[in-house]
Amino acid sequence: MTSDRAILHVDMDAFYASVEQHDEPALAGKPVLVGGPSARGVVAAASYEARRFGIRSAMPMREALERCPHAVCVRPRMPRYQEVSRRIFAIFHEVTPLVQGLSLDEAFLDVTASPEPAARIASSVKRRIRETTGLTASVGVASSKLVAKIASDFEKPDGLTVVSADRLQEFLDPLSVRRLPGLGRKAGERVEALGLKTLGELRRAPDAILWPLFGRHSQRVRERASGIDGRPVVTDRDEKSVSAEDTFDRDIGDARTLEAELTRLADRACVRIRAKSLVAGCVAVKIRRHDFATFTRRRTIAPPTQNRRTISSVAAELLARWLVEHPGAKLRLLGVALTDLNPATQLGLFHDVRPGPGLDTAVDAICERFGRRALRRANQL
Ligand SMILES: [Mg+2]
Repeated sequence: MTSDRAILHVDMDAFYASVEQHDEPALAGKPVLVGGPSARGVVAAASYEARRFGIRSAMPMREALERCPHAVCVRPRMPRYQEVSRRIFAIFHEVTPLVQGLSLDEAFLDVTASPEPAARIASSVKRRIRETTGLTASVGVASSKLVAKIASDFEKPDGLTVVSADRLQEFLDPLSVRRLPGLGRKAGERVEALGLKTLGELRRAPDAILWPLFGRHSQRVRERASGIDGRPVVTDRDEKSVSAEDTFDRDIGDARTLEAELTRLADRACVRIRAKSLVAGCVAVKIRRHDFATFTRRRTIAPPTQNRRTISSVAAELLARWLVEHPGAKLRLLGVALTDLNPATQLGLFHDVRPGPGLDTAVDAICERFGRRALRRANQL
């Protein structure tokens, strides 16, 4: 059983925006939007003061400025965020070797082996992050990755939520089904339309209700709503792949839209291998149809690369070929996984790093979250 594990999910609060407010005291307490300078760009991060105006990440910058005209716009400074990220991850690695980074500002820590209570480790991690960087993090503690993630989001910002095994159902049952990671907005709406508003209602729902929506995955959905999740924390060193995937708000059948989504996901995965100085020798595309049937297509790339253009074009080709085999298919999820990972340095001169890390990191701030689509929009001006 896995109920005796102790897992932390640590997530920095409004990370990019908080770094900007910390580095420039004049921005403290003000609504700050991090994003491209163009009116057609999107918000990469919004400070909590800006969120009070209903501004959210990924919202078009123009709309954000309509909601809050006096907001201060700041261009992303990716190298600075990466530097702060390295300091945060150094703290994680002092606590446990079992650290799984999800992005620059988010990680799972498995502290099961530690003699100290997980709740005390969590508050000490929060304190050390604040002392080292001046920033706040929210932490969730639970016996699974799934519940730890839900818990870290529960009391943001500067939150600390501990869900002990004996109060798991008490914690989850009243929560909205929308809190369940991976459900997606469309599936969430459909579940609510069935009269299932809370995770408690979802976990008790009979097959007769869930089957039309989730088919043979109904039991898995029920388990997730109950907080059952046996996935281990996979350390970055052991990581066999870096992936990015998204469940769409609505099923997508249009090939061009799918390709744009795929490019965005490939960019996101590239940002992560570049941050870790890795190159990928294989690209895999994960495709989930509206009926939950799931397919994987992969291809090796030689020489191994971290180049976003090379990787997206291989991914696009794999998807295009699949679409030819499955005409008329509508997809609910797409993913890109980069595997056969190796340190970039080990390959010396032979690996392909064009067009140069400098250029690529300059756009990583947006791409980590929203991908090339956001940038293209900014460039159209
Ligand atoms: Mg965060």
